[in-house]
Amino acid sequence: MCGIVGFAGTREAAPVLIDGLRRLEYRGYDSAGVAVSDGAAINVAKVKGYVKNLSDMTHDGADIRGRIGVGHTRWATHGAPNDVNAHPHMSSDGRFAVVHNGIIENYALLRQELTKNGYTFASDTDTEVVAHLLEMYYDGDARRAVMKAASRLEGSYSLGVICADGRLFAVREQSPLILGLGVGENYFASDVAALVPHTKNVIYLDDGEFAELTPDAITVYDVRGRAVEKPVSKVAWDVEAAEKGGYEHFMLKEIMEQPACFKATVEPRIKDGRIEFENFDLTDEELHDINRIIITACGSAGYAGQVGRYVIEELCRVPVSVELASELRYRNPIIDRHTLLVVISQSGETADTIAALRECKARGARVLAIVNVVGSTIAKLADHVIYTWAGPEIAVATTKGYTTQAAVLDMLAIWLADRLGLMEKERYDALVEALHAMPGQIQRAIDLNRGIHRLAKKLCKYNDIYFIGRNLDYAVCMEGALKLKEISYIFAEAYAAGELKHGTIALVEQGSLVVTLACYEPLFDKTMSNIEEVKARGAEVLAVALEGNRKILSKADDVIFVPRTDPLFNPIAQIVPLQLFAYYVAKERGCDIDKPKNLAKSVTVE
Ligand code: GLU
Repeated sequence: MCGIVGFAGTREAAPVLIDGLRRLEYRGYDSAGVAVSDGAAINVAKVKGYVKNLSDMTHDGADIRGRIGVGHTRWATHGAPNDVNAHPHMSSDGRFAVVHNGIIENYALLRQELTKNGYTFASDTDTEVVAHLLEMYYDGDARRAVMKAASRLEGSYSLGVICADGRLFAVREQSPLILGLGVGENYFASDVAALVPHTKNVIYLDDGEFAELTPDAITVYDVRGRAVEKPVSKVAWDVEAAEKGGYEHFMLKEIMEQPACFKATVEPRIKDGRIEFENFDLTDEELHDINRIIITACGSAGYAGQVGRYVIEELCRVPVSVELASELRYRNPIIDRHTLLVVISQSGETADTIAALRECKARGARVLAIVNVVGSTIAKLADHVIYTWAGPEIAVATTKGYTTQAAVLDMLAIWLADRLGLMEKERYDALVEALHAMPGQIQRAIDLNRGIHRLAKKLCKYNDIYFIGRNLDYAVCMEGALKLKEISYIFAEAYAAGELKHGTIALVEQGSLVVTLACYEPLFDKTMSNIEEVKARGAEVLAVALEGNRKILSKADDVIFVPRTDPLFNPIAQIVPLQLFAYYVAKERGCDIDKPKNLAKSVTVE
């Protein structure tokens, strides 16, 4: 998590760094700090809380002078979020300042060793060991000190290091770091969002590599310190894509972008009515070799996987399981070369998902990644990649990331079913047609619910909310409940509607709200019975139903209507008003929607 930035140029560094931190704040917001060198000494400013506190404290960076520097916005793993634990951390002699994203797993041993050698620690962080290691290994050559210090570290880290004499380094090991090439100035950052205002030319560092940046040059080295040639890539996103564009929150902007993002993800993959992927194809032999599919991911990506499971099993008749990456990685899973592993991650940097991928790949699985960020670790490790073209997602709670992942899974299901010879041409054409219509349907799902803030105002008082549904509706419940708890902090849980009476209904009473998803029509009557059951126990019911369904009005207290799409694609239309509902409930409750407490985007630690 956390965002790090670095700058080497001929203008003042601090304002550039602080602007970069603002753009990375979605990655962590426990504290913020910068360190800049004026060529002789390092000046540091750091403070608990948002980047705004840092910019207020330093007059937007004007108070700290120097043309080379590093910055950090923290999501604490080791040590409370306070001023002292905020990065950058300094070596005792003041020669080095360090910012760090990730976890140094052997920090306790290193701390012991350094303490024995006379170093004293100011903070509780794992990161501070790096600053002292740099001092210990410094023999007049800062680059050598960086290399030696890095060789002692275990775990995941990207580091930004400045030396008082004005040298700037970036180090990467299992944590994202991208270098930006400007004119007369160079940069690095955890995410391109901080680079695009300055340059679209970037270099993706690989694990084990480090770089030295000056205003005029970037030199990348391998783990042994040998210079390596790196390709320069062009970022496709523009700066507007990573800004709020007049919306009050990134989350609302990203909800509204979903029709366009769906289109950008789906349309380029449909050529003359046929689905084709740029980086994914299988021979007939490879295809028939697959006897099951495992989808692995964390959080919402896993819930997109749950939708995918129903659709793929329905169309392809291949067994699909959805596994939490954090469990799969440690479970000694039964996986072999007949397994297709579908790995889903918006950032492509999710630590648990990367570990699960590596584990399954080592056991022979063929790996297909569904990610949003080009050049990310998961994209590089997988055998095949299908990108979601959602553009930068800044709000911590995903919206367009999730719907574009579901879109790719829907396409994948149709593609597989067709290749397996399980799909009639008419059905295939109808599904492709329905995909084409989805951007309009998503827009309709937004338009039908323009008054949802009133519903949110009425229902935001509830402290216990249960989401129930069956089949695909149940898959959507999981994401709907997660959205609400992530940003409004209301206890919300998803249950398969048929499962409620096997335990959880004991909790349902007056004062409970049950959000009932009732769009899966083959089981509509069963779900109606579940509504009766919870109402009989005093719960209030908010239903989500298909436009034109009048039966629901007699049962539910309130109804959110969504447009009728192909039944397999209903989840995408359903989740959009539930995202809006969560957004307005959180707003009513005065929550910080784009920066929910305890969370951060791009979970790069285990
Ligand atoms: N482990 C470091 C800390 O707790 C860095 C955490 C981060 O990635 O923000 O300070």
